Amino acid sequence: MTRIASKLPEVGTTIFTQISALAQAHEALNLGQGFPDFDGPDYLRERMSYYVDAGYNQYPPMAGIGPLREQIALKVERCYQRRLDTDREITVVPGATEALFCAIMCSINRGDEVIIFDPAYDSYEPAIRLAGGIARRIPLASPDFSIDWSRVHDAVNANTRMLVLNSPHNPTGAVLSAEDISQLKSLVSQYDILLLADEVYEHLIYDGETHHSLLLHDQLYQRAFVVSSFGKTYHVTGWKTGYCVAPPALTAEFRKVHQFVTFVGVTPIQWALADFMAEYPDYASKLAGFYQAKRDRFCQAMTQSRFRFRPCRGSYFQLMDYAAISDRGDMAMAQWLTMDIKVAAIPISVFYEQPPKQRYLRFCFAKDDDTLLEAAARLANL
Ligand code: PMP
Ligand code: GLN
Repeated sequence: MTRIASKLPEVGTTIFTQISALAQAHEALNLGQGFPDFDGPDYLRERMSYYVDAGYNQYPPMAGIGPLREQIALKVERCYQRRLDTDREITVVPGATEALFCAIMCSINRGDEVIIFDPAYDSYEPAIRLAGGIARRIPLASPDFSIDWSRVHDAVNANTRMLVLNSPHNPTGAVLSAEDISQLKSLVSQYDILLLADEVYEHLIYDGETHHSLLLHDQLYQRAFVVSSFGKTYHVTGWKTGYCVAPPALTAEFRKVHQFVTFVGVTPIQWALADFMAEYPDYASKLAGFYQAKRDRFCQAMTQSRFRFRPCRGSYFQLMDYAAISDRGDMAMAQWLTMDIKVAAIPISVFYEQPPKQRYLRFCFAKDDDTLLEAAARLANL
């Protein structure tokens, strides 16, 4: 049989797929893969059915339908006081994953270096490698997973082309601070590098903290691709729809790749989202309170357990240190929890080049309260 010389020889099936399959096989409560176990808003789903029935079933424009791009522009202006050119700065894509891929693919050439942090969301490094680039990983500092800017400066060299930021951060729940933004400004004033900001959890930020979007800072935005996902904001991860905002010259290159990866997103989804955003412009502003209550409920219940944690600052993920419970590796621990305790979690060593000494699992708290309390009760027995 003809064989393929793999471009990603060490890459297997993602941890999310593995753990979700295990959770299903063992009927475990799935706090592993990041998705809500509740549905998106009724009106959004109604509009989706409406547009499918009304015949909105052919290709949309390559950049996304106009009304959705207009709603994105309004939202960006409301949240980040930036006026965007809907024709030249916004591209709707089938999933933030595609946006990340296209942003990397359009700007990274063979031998270019891209700085990512350790741990990093799993899609960044494979995309960098497929583009012919080299991922340079910088460990986030203990214990709060903050960025050590002196290490960033040490890593930058003539080949550095891009820095990938993810705030709120998956898997740690860390968020960028005002000081990080100052450091970033100082970095880009010294080096000509692009920024890729994965802001899919932009609305999930707690305890009164604000989201330091790159869209707020012109000096940063002028060299940035900013990516978001409707899946996270409207509880419809399976709709796989997101967008990339970037200055016109970057958007032009982004679209050259996007048009040959998927060409377009899904038409009725885009119409439904446009209607929903027009009807409920404030929906996203209530998300932080909604998820903070879930975080607090879960964390409060977990104080009864031997897991140790600091409540996350953003995202819908909570790290838990299980060193007091077991000295298993995190993969073995996650599998045992899923199969025997019937609570699925994600081992975070898979997001690292150099896994930490601490023993962490990642729990997703985008779940009904009963699920969270039942999971915590099972974990409290360990
Ligand atoms: N970035 C991060 C940090 C994520 O957690 C996810 C989760 N799905 C994505 C990107 C991808 O989002 P989407 O499902 O819209 O492709
Ligand atoms: N982003 C989701 C998570 O971190 C999963 C997405 C996926 O399965 N690729 O759990």
